[in-house]
Amino acid sequence: MYFKRFFEFKPNNNNIFIMYKDGKVIYDLDQKTFMLEESFLNYEVECTKIGIAINGKSNIYAVDVTYSNFQLNEQGYTSLVEYDLRQMMSMLNEDDLNLVGRANQLLHWLKSNKHCGYCGAVKNEDKKEGALFCSCNNIMTYPTISPCVLCLIKKDNQILLARNAMFPEGLFSVLAGFIETSETAEQTLEREVEEEVGLKVKNIKYFGSQSWPFPSQLMIGYECEYASGEINVDGIEIVEAKWFGINNLPKTPPNSTLSGRLINSYIADRSKL
Ligand SMILES: [Zn+2]
Repeated sequence: MYFKRFFEFKPNNNNIFIMYKDGKVIYDLDQKTFMLEESFLNYEVECTKIGIAINGKSNIYAVDVTYSNFQLNEQGYTSLVEYDLRQMMSMLNEDDLNLVGRANQLLHWLKSNKHCGYCGAVKNEDKKEGALFCSCNNIMTYPTISPCVLCLIKKDNQILLARNAMFPEGLFSVLAGFIETSETAEQTLEREVEEEVGLKVKNIKYFGSQSWPFPSQLMIGYECEYASGEINVDGIEIVEAKWFGINNLPKTPPNSTLSGRLINSYIADRSKL
């Protein structure tokens, strides 16, 4: 299977739909899948849809049936339910999560870019580019992602973990922040660490990245070392931040997230010593 973005649509027995309704994924419990065969579905062809991948003879489409008459109990599948995409993170492997997340991101892109920001007209589809454009200026609108930096700070044999104001009590994670226009990822990291916890860091090293479809982010993970300063949380975004050794860790995010993997990779390295 490979990712491809395309608008062309022809009903076909090989088509696979990844369907969203009211922001939730439609999932078949019996077959344990979100990849639904078009031939078993009773849906209105005019609903919002976009091709997102090709797998052999199958075109895979992201389909939004929120504003059409689609009934879960009138389908060729008998055990359809609606799942929150976040809930699916713990159920799916990374490839499946990327695919179902890609469907969410491209539907979000289509729905949020319907009108031209310059003249207000409904945008056209450019089939060759797989992009949207308006004839008032011929500027193509491609899907956008918002890059976000994650940062694990190490000091002696401890790491800095923080509790975001939006986290439940007791859950701590690495620091995170969106890349500002014109910033490099490393500059974002230095700025966010200073703004959120008042520290300076050094020796920034890339760790890995993860697509984060809520709705369209790319998480870019780094490790770095403490350089100077005392912890001083901003009290707005971050309400608590502490140094933790591997023997007194708080509750942290699961391994299905890049922040969880950053923390667990540190624990694995320390455990070898
Ligand atoms: Zn326009």
